[in-house]
Amino acid sequence: MKTSRIPGFYNMDVAERRKILTDMELFTNEETEFLFSKEALQVETADNMIENVIGTYPLPLGLGLNFLVNGKEYAVPMAIEEPSVVASASYIAKIVRNAGGFKTEATDRVMIGQIQVVGCPDIQAAKKILMDKRDSIIKDANAAYPSLVARGGGAEDIEVRILNEDSDSTFNQMLVLHVYVNTCDAMGANIINTMVESLAPKIEMLTEGKVYLRILSNLPDRCLARSRCVIPSELLASDGYSGEEVRDGVIQAYEFAATDPYRAVTHNKGIMNGIDPIVIATGNDWRAVEAGAHAYAVRDGHYGSMTRWSKDNDGNLVGELELPMSVGTVGGSIRVHPMSKVSHKILGVESARELAQVIVSVGLAQNLGALKALVTDGIQKGHMALHSRSVAIAAGATGELINIISQQLIDKKDIRIGKAKELVEEYTK
Ligand code: NDP
Repeated sequence: MKTSRIPGFYNMDVAERRKILTDMELFTNEETEFLFSKEALQVETADNMIENVIGTYPLPLGLGLNFLVNGKEYAVPMAIEEPSVVASASYIAKIVRNAGGFKTEATDRVMIGQIQVVGCPDIQAAKKILMDKRDSIIKDANAAYPSLVARGGGAEDIEVRILNEDSDSTFNQMLVLHVYVNTCDAMGANIINTMVESLAPKIEMLTEGKVYLRILSNLPDRCLARSRCVIPSELLASDGYSGEEVRDGVIQAYEFAATDPYRAVTHNKGIMNGIDPIVIATGNDWRAVEAGAHAYAVRDGHYGSMTRWSKDNDGNLVGELELPMSVGTVGGSIRVHPMSKVSHKILGVESARELAQVIVSVGLAQNLGALKALVTDGIQKGHMALHSRSVAIAAGATGELINIISQQLIDKKDIRIGKAKELVEEYTK
């Protein structure tokens, strides 16, 4: 993307927005027509993706604009049904780009496979044997997936833990082997499951125990992405609120979420409002990302805020987000779903590490969008105005009437389906 700054995008119609993507030479006219056709995901393709298919379930796909991450422009494809999320992300991304953009980094993409061993006659001896056989276990894991090794990835390390060591009963004592695997640009669940299943007989032989579970862990805490922004407070000022007031409100809102799980869960849901849509749009497994993110937020035993907001010595607002990010640019349905291919083309990321860094930046932006609204006008003003169109449609409005009813609901400050039904009846009788 040459630029993610497209002034007036919001006010264009869908055809004009698509034309911009064609004008930017992201797509040819034919591609645009095919890719954005009503049935982009053909039911035949869907039937090969999951079981018992009866149709497809489309979601709106919007573009989060203005994102500048490590100096690179990103228009972010976001698949989501909830109004105001895309607008809020784009609004905050514009503020952050005026402050220099998001600065990000990521670890190598090291995912975890777990093997559970029970009934070892001597659990301590079994642990020692596995550690002594580290190199041979890694070698065997890699033999199960040589193509990954050829790409520069593969199993790199192991760890052995004993669970319920102090238990009176040996029944619930177990040994857990972690196999750490660099899955390159794949999310890696299938790769890892193949590896750990292939290791199971060897592990049983070495430990004299019984292997039950062999599967990926969805808490990949060696596969992290971090994003940071530093915003001069004057960029945060909005109608009737000074920048300092907004900055301090955001920090206080963060302190609330950091301390109170009841608040943290809503705060974090707001972060996932930004993360899930790009994860979905890029064909990734959003349940895996959700599970990992929430588990990471409680890693020290207390469920708190995923983000951190503070003030630096110059009075700037500083935002940081670090999360495990089990996403890929290949594998699963990524190269199967046509809209996922479109999203990757728009986004222009070259690796899963790069994708992960954009995703956490969107999560950070989304969090600030929600907090800024909450500490100023409240969330409902902007949210309900955008929601009014869905309310009008739910009440039966179609075509031109959607705009008319939606505007009436906003003017009357009564954005409810009951009111919308009354208005639809009035206009259509
Ligand atoms: P795949 O099984 O599709 O594996 C990825 C494939 O991509 C590899 O086999 C590799 O094939 C190929 N590939 C091409 N280029 C690269 C590259 N640069 N880096 C890495 N691989 C490359 O998918 P995943 O293993 O990623 O598994 C993801 C899927 O697993 C998702 O659909 C997820 O929903 C699902 N899943 C999730 C679970 C969980 O989260 N707990 C559990 C089970 C499944 P080759 O080397 O042969 O070319």
